[in-house]
Amino acid sequence: MPIPGNPLAYTLVYALESPRGPVLVDAGWEHEDAWAALKDGLGAFGMDIADVHGVVVTHYHPDHAGLAGRVRETSGAWVAMHRDDAAIVRLFREVVEQDADRTWELAAMRRAGAGADELGGPGSPREHIDPPAAPDRELDDGELVDLPGRRLRTVWTPGHSPGHICLHLEDGDRIFTGDHVLPRITPHIGLYPYDRTDTDPLGDYLASLGRVATVDAGEVLPAHQYRFAGLAGRTGEIIAHHEERLAELTGLLSPAPTTLWELAAGLRWREAWADMGATAKRMATGEAAAHLLVLEKRGVARRLDEGGTLRFALR
Ligand SMILES: [Zn+2]
Ligand SMILES: [Zn+2]
Repeated sequence: MPIPGNPLAYTLVYALESPRGPVLVDAGWEHEDAWAALKDGLGAFGMDIADVHGVVVTHYHPDHAGLAGRVRETSGAWVAMHRDDAAIVRLFREVVEQDADRTWELAAMRRAGAGADELGGPGSPREHIDPPAAPDRELDDGELVDLPGRRLRTVWTPGHSPGHICLHLEDGDRIFTGDHVLPRITPHIGLYPYDRTDTDPLGDYLASLGRVATVDAGEVLPAHQYRFAGLAGRTGEIIAHHEERLAELTGLLSPAPTTLWELAAGLRWREAWADMGATAKRMATGEAAAHLLVLEKRGVARRLDEGGTLRFALR
């Protein structure tokens, strides 16, 4: 299903047959073109959106959960996600109601050391995003999804989102990996707010990769790019990629404190820092913050939090 105007281009949405109707793994971006693609895709197998029995969402991001609410309205399907992402969806819905200008994001960027000139422009925090539909069902690690006649097991893989799940079709030798494991790219792993220490997304992500690598599944069905074989090999490559990023960040640290924003700007990115919009810079800073927390936990970095600005130095 297309993601209009996004370099990812599309979300791979999977439909699993059951006697009660198809169960979808993810539901794609909320857009008329995506809706038409879902209708056509199901139609190719003689199915209709109105027949859908349930939608299991790998994580709450809009390219996965976007159309789940509309599918539910059309078919009466249940919508399920992991309980930790369900909690984020509830929070997201409250925040959007209470803080329509999203001033909390501006405050977070200032705290990282961003200059006033970097807080506006394209993709500025005032851009509106609709919160995803609240789920009817919450899943836990190891739980079977309601897919009558099949065994579709929830594998909790926090990191890209706190409640990200992979889905192991045990009687089909396949695993649906959402954004957790993709064949050629790695998902965004960011820490928000940047100064949080009560959660460790990159630490969680590396542990989740180690865990999912032990799942015995012949074919990997990700939510972007293409299907492939060799789950353990690919997870090993992604872990190595993050170890390289951790080493790169260590190289930027010195005994003198540096702001989080400067550290993020010093890392290599696909696009030059100076050319990035506000959203890209905010996400890059979240990634740097996630990596710095791991370096801090490993005893490599230490944080200094003075005068409302977050800085890091070599320990
Ligand atoms: Zn995602
Ligand atoms: Zn995605």
